[in-house]
Parts: sequence; structure tokens; C-alpha cells
Amino acid sequence: MYPAAFEYHAPASIQETLGLLGRLGDDAKLLAGGHSLVPMMKLRLARPKHVIDLRKVPGLAGVREEGGSIVIGAMTTHWQVESSPLLCEKCPILSDTASVIGDPQVRNLGTIGGSLAHADPAADIPATAIALGAEFVCEGPKGRRTVKVDEWFQGLMQTALHEDEILVEIRFPAWPAGSGGAYMKFPHPASRFAVVGVAAMVTLDGKGACTKAGVGVTGAGTKAVRAKGVEAGIVGKTLDQATIEGAAQNAADGVDVQADLQGSVEYKQHLCRVFARRAIEAAVKRARG
Ligand SMILES: Cc1cc2nc3c(=O)[nH]c(=O)nc-3n(C[C@H](O)[C@H](O)[C@H](O)COP(=O)(O)OP(=O)(O)OC[C@H]3O[C@@H](n4cnc5c(N)ncnc54)[C@H](O)[C@@H]3O)c2cc1C
Repeated sequence: MYPAAFEYHAPASIQETLGLLGRLGDDAKLLAGGHSLVPMMKLRLARPKHVIDLRKVPGLAGVREEGGSIVIGAMTTHWQVESSPLLCEKCPILSDTASVIGDPQVRNLGTIGGSLAHADPAADIPATAIALGAEFVCEGPKGRRTVKVDEWFQGLMQTALHEDEILVEIRFPAWPAGSGGAYMKFPHPASRFAVVGVAAMVTLDGKGACTKAGVGVTGAGTKAVRAKGVEAGIVGKTLDQATIEGAAQNAADGVDVQADLQGSVEYKQHLCRVFARRAIEAAVKRARG
């Protein structure tokens, strides 16, 4: 299948990109790795008259540490996130999550910013972004602004990003010593997208009690959400098996679980609970070192 005709633009700076977005408005779409936009164009689910390729815009890719936070440029590919020595050492949940996205071809071209801007309900990174408490740096005609992850995912493929803005980078604030995290998913056998995926971050004090937690659920509903009931069920508690299993029972609360060809509502709720338990167990293991 072929996309509808469009004009291709390859700006060489953020300013030039913003100028194009301002001038072309609704008729334009940004292109990152193209692994979500191009299939949609081929299926004619998207028909932009103008495609603005971000790949020649400098300064949008890379992983760095800044003021205690991990900062990842929007154009950083899933493979670069998966293989970054900094992330493997300081934030392995991000590398782990990137490593289970699609296949090597998808990970070599798809970008973290593209995934978070597209907000596919079955994408993996959104759950981990929620668990970690990510912040999104967007640049528009009025300059830069930062959006917290709890305001980012607004509905099915809808985010807080304005049409005249670019997602520039994603910031992941540092977690305290004694923290660990894990992402667990039930992958679709063909695409590898998450039928259900759960990311969990926990911080344990010297006595093994959980002092901080972040849990994100993706795949089951129309958007990734924070599993507040699970977080409330583990913070302040010693994380023995019964406590973890009890808290994981809340994993589908607040998720607008959708039945589809992959399963019924009840089945997906069950997956949320099972994968929440597994993610917390693995996070606790990591936090204990
Ligand atoms: C076969 C296949 C299997 C896949 N499996 C998985 C999987 O298992 N898990 C998973 O999470 N994902 C999966 N994906 C999706 C993949 O991760 C995509 O790379 C990702 O969703 C989109 O990133 P992209 O860089 O390709 O964005 P693009 O397709 O280029 O863009 C997607 C959307 O985001 C917008 N956009 C992109 N970058 C920016 C930016 N910097 N600022 C503002 N807007 C922007 C675009 O305008 C577009 O609307 C799969 C894709 C394919 C084709």
C-alpha cells in the first residue's frame, strides 16, 4: 500500500522545524523513526500533506546525566536506549524496556520521543516513563515548557503536546539509593506490542520497607496509566510475598480496560495483576542488590 501524496521537508534546526510547523499547521506531521507514522500513512489512517523529517535536526538525540537526572533526547533510538552504558548502569529499567520493543529493525529506527509522542496504547516505554516519574520537555514558538508524566497521556494517542511543538527531550529524575525497577510484559506474538505491560520502581530503606514506589500499566486500556492502588498497597510496607500479591490485585483499578481480538476485559485485568506482581518482585530483587 502507498501513502497519499505529501511534500517532504528536511529542516536543519529546531527553529526551522518550528517555522514549518507554524506555517503548515494541521497539514504537517513530524517524522522521527517512521515506525508508527509511515504504517498509518500507508493504511491512509494519516494523510499529512507535509512530512517534516527530524533526522537532520541536530541536538535531538543522545543520553546524558544532568543535575542528577537522566536526560534522553527525543530522537534517541530504542537501540541506543537499550545499549547505553549510562542507562544500563544508572537506570536499567529503561534499557530493559527498550530491549523488548518490537524487533531489531524497529529498535534501530524507532525513537523514544516518537513512541511517547505517538502514545500508542500498547507501547512499552509509557509504562516505564510513568513508573520513573518522567518529565517531557517540549519546544514551541513561545519557548520551552516541561510537562509531568501524569499530565502527558490524555487519551487514545493523545498527549499534552501542542500541534506547534516538538518533543525535545525526556528527563528522568534520579531515584534514591536502595531503588530498583523492572518492566514485565505479555507481548503480542506477532508485533511484540504489549497486550499488557507493567513497570515498577521501588525504593527500600535499610530495614526492607518500601519508602517510594512508581507503577505504570500499559496495553490494557486506551492510554498508559499510573496504578495508584498498587503504589498505595506497597509504600510504607515491608515487601513480603503476601503484601506484593495483595497490592498487585489493584493493578487494573483505574484502567479503562478494553476488550479486543487479544482478550476479554476479565482476561486483561488478570494479566494486569499477574504482570504487576512479577514487575514488583523483580524490582524488589534489584533494589536489594
Ligand atoms: C512491526 C512493529 C512492531 C512494533 N512493536 C512495538 C513494541 O513491541 N512496543 C512498542 O512500544 N512499540 C512498538 N512499535 C512502535 C515503535 O516503537 C515506534 O518506533 C514508535 O511507536 C514510534 O516511534 P518513531 O520514532 O518510529 O515515530 P514516528 O512513527 O516517526 O512518529 C510517530 C508520531 O509521533 C510524532 N513525533 C515523533 N517524534 C516527535 C517529536 N520529537 N516531537 C513531536 N512529535 C513527534 C509524529 O509526528 C507521529 O505522529 C512497533 C512498530 C512496528 C512497525
